[in-house]
Amino acid sequence: MSLLRLANISKKYKLENGKERIVLNKISIVFPDHGLVAILGKSGSGKSTLLNMISLLDEPSNGCVYFKNKNINKLDLKDKEIYRNKNIGIVFQHYHLLENETVIFNIMLPLLIRGEKRKNAEFAAKNLLKTIDFKENLYNTKCKDLSGGEKERVAILRSLINNPEIILADEPTGALDSKNSNIVMELLKEISKERLVIVVSHNEELVHKFADSIIQIKDGKIEEQKQIENDTKLIAKIKTKKVAKQSHWIRSLSRSNFLRRIKRNVIAMASLFIGLTASLLIVGFSNGSTSSIRERTYKQIDYGVATISRETSQQIPGSKMTLVKMSKPSNDELLKSKNNLDAFHLEPNITSLVSKYPIIKSGDSKLEELSYNPIYSFIDESINKGLLLKGRMPDETLSEVLVNRKGYEYIKKDFKCEPLGLVLTVHNEYEHHSYLDSGQVITDYFVFDKEITIVGMVDDLSFLATPKLYYSYLTIKEYLKETLLVNLSSKENKEITWYQTLLDSDENDPISSYSYQLFLKDYRNNPQLDELINKVNEPLKIDSPSITVANALFDLITAATLGMELFLMIALVGTTLILGIISFSSYTEDKKTSAILTCLGANKKEIFSIYFYENLFICLISLISSFVLSPLLALLANFIIQSITGFMNMIFIPLLAFLIIIPSTLLICAGSTYLPLFFSKKISPKEELSEE
Ligand code: ADP
Ligand code: MG
Repeated sequence: MSLLRLANISKKYKLENGKERIVLNKISIVFPDHGLVAILGKSGSGKSTLLNMISLLDEPSNGCVYFKNKNINKLDLKDKEIYRNKNIGIVFQHYHLLENETVIFNIMLPLLIRGEKRKNAEFAAKNLLKTIDFKENLYNTKCKDLSGGEKERVAILRSLINNPEIILADEPTGALDSKNSNIVMELLKEISKERLVIVVSHNEELVHKFADSIIQIKDGKIEEQKQIENDTKLIAKIKTKKVAKQSHWIRSLSRSNFLRRIKRNVIAMASLFIGLTASLLIVGFSNGSTSSIRERTYKQIDYGVATISRETSQQIPGSKMTLVKMSKPSNDELLKSKNNLDAFHLEPNITSLVSKYPIIKSGDSKLEELSYNPIYSFIDESINKGLLLKGRMPDETLSEVLVNRKGYEYIKKDFKCEPLGLVLTVHNEYEHHSYLDSGQVITDYFVFDKEITIVGMVDDLSFLATPKLYYSYLTIKEYLKETLLVNLSSKENKEITWYQTLLDSDENDPISSYSYQLFLKDYRNNPQLDELINKVNEPLKIDSPSITVANALFDLITAATLGMELFLMIALVGTTLILGIISFSSYTEDKKTSAILTCLGANKKEIFSIYFYENLFICLISLISSFVLSPLLALLANFIIQSITGFMNMIFIPLLAFLIIIPSTLLICAGSTYLPLFFSKKISPKEELSEE
């Protein structure tokens, strides 16, 4: 039985012009089981191609390679990897070491790929190094810092570490001076005492000095063959099984790749970090803003103040416009909606008599921006007393009012005085006509002229807020119940009050302001206001300024969130692209390393893992930092938003977002690793490592 036999091997290449090129032509060689066999020939004669046939880096067009009488061209992919890892050792002219790894690591790498424990592998590598003349202080030096002779010796030791039966050396002295060439050839000669060493060379002098047999190749044919006798002491088994997988060499390579490309990887991490953090914050914003705005709007002192009126629309003839007509609801209509109005105090609208925009003066100066607004009462549960920021709640009297924050700032800034304790005058006039059955028209004048004192300041929403004073509706109601329409009363000869006139007013009478006033009885029902408003039957309609403001805010936030989400998508696609490009360039940059690892018996999955771990590390660091930093950023952003707008917890990142982002990141990681590998050309070790 022979160790290695080439039977009728031919190799043809199809050229671009359609012609065939025969590189190897029916070559048959029976190799001895030990000794140094030299393959001699000019450049281009097919020597490397021949070696590639033996190392299975290339397939013959015809013929077979027999290793221990087994046709190894028929092995499956996995067994080919094992054959390369265990039965042969390859030495290249250009060394093909992992230049950024240490001498020890390079030598023990085939053992690690085989699945050996690191400690054992290191021990074996050191033992091997001790058998040759190699400076001990270079053991942990990176290979890129070695001389050519040293590198070639490291490459030879690497090919030896797995104790293979065959060593293939392609022009091992091609790049060395004669002194180093002799050292290397002596080493190969020494090795060949126990195994088959096939050396390719075009240096005749060196070959004749060291080789036991010489095969001369010319134009793909054997020109001359001098062969020594076969020794039959062979172990008749191809080493197959790998030891249980140890993948620390993969992680070790990933780690050193990561550190070698640290600048690029920091950019990748930063971009992923920004993408992930932005996602968390945007999800947090869309999650938190709605409830934050609701919470905040409930805390309006006049949140439950609304009006109810009948709204009917009429098409204007000959026009596309519709006219919305407002009128005071009839008692029948109110009765129909009674259940839904239970939560409210239903009162006549008094704004015709006591305008929202009366003349308000401090001494001689007008406070034109200040409006005058009703809330139901200062003392019952329609008011949330917790909203008082400064001063005190007013007594239930017409002469005491509250000011909101905007109003407070307006007075303080424009009138340079302390608003609390400030005495103002409010003035409003109204002219009312009563049409008697007799056709007579009686005119009465309502003159509202009051001195009021601001006693407290209340919190309110700064969004769309205007400077406001708040008075108690109940106190004015009492006042209107006591104040008579003087002319009408004397004409009719009974006491007719303004309040009664408001109550009795007809639906189209301007004094009714075409509506009733509604006050939510209990401020704790604020969260239900929206619902209550929508329950009222048509054609009645409740108009709530607070809800209008809140809805405007929701629209604004929805639009903003939508924009941000779009931005987020772009950011995430960009991040994946950046990661993909980075891992693609790493892959291209390391193509030679991958080819070397293939020659040493590593499989595709293991090589893929090297890039995957590097990217995984990038992803994990970004993920952890965004997990830690985004809640802090949210806190900071919330603080800033609150101090500007008064909204609390606008960004609230839900736990689910954190949970979802983990698999998403891993997906980005896998995608950005796998896709570039998928789209790039398959690595051909033969081409990557071909000796120029
Ligand atoms: P050597 O190692 O003896 O210098 P090689 O075995 O590398 O020669 O190459 C033998 C011949 O095969 C060369 O002429 C080379 O140009 C040719 N050759 C190698 N690979 C290919 C290929 N893929 N397509 C066409 N010709 C090739
Ligand atoms: Mg060659």
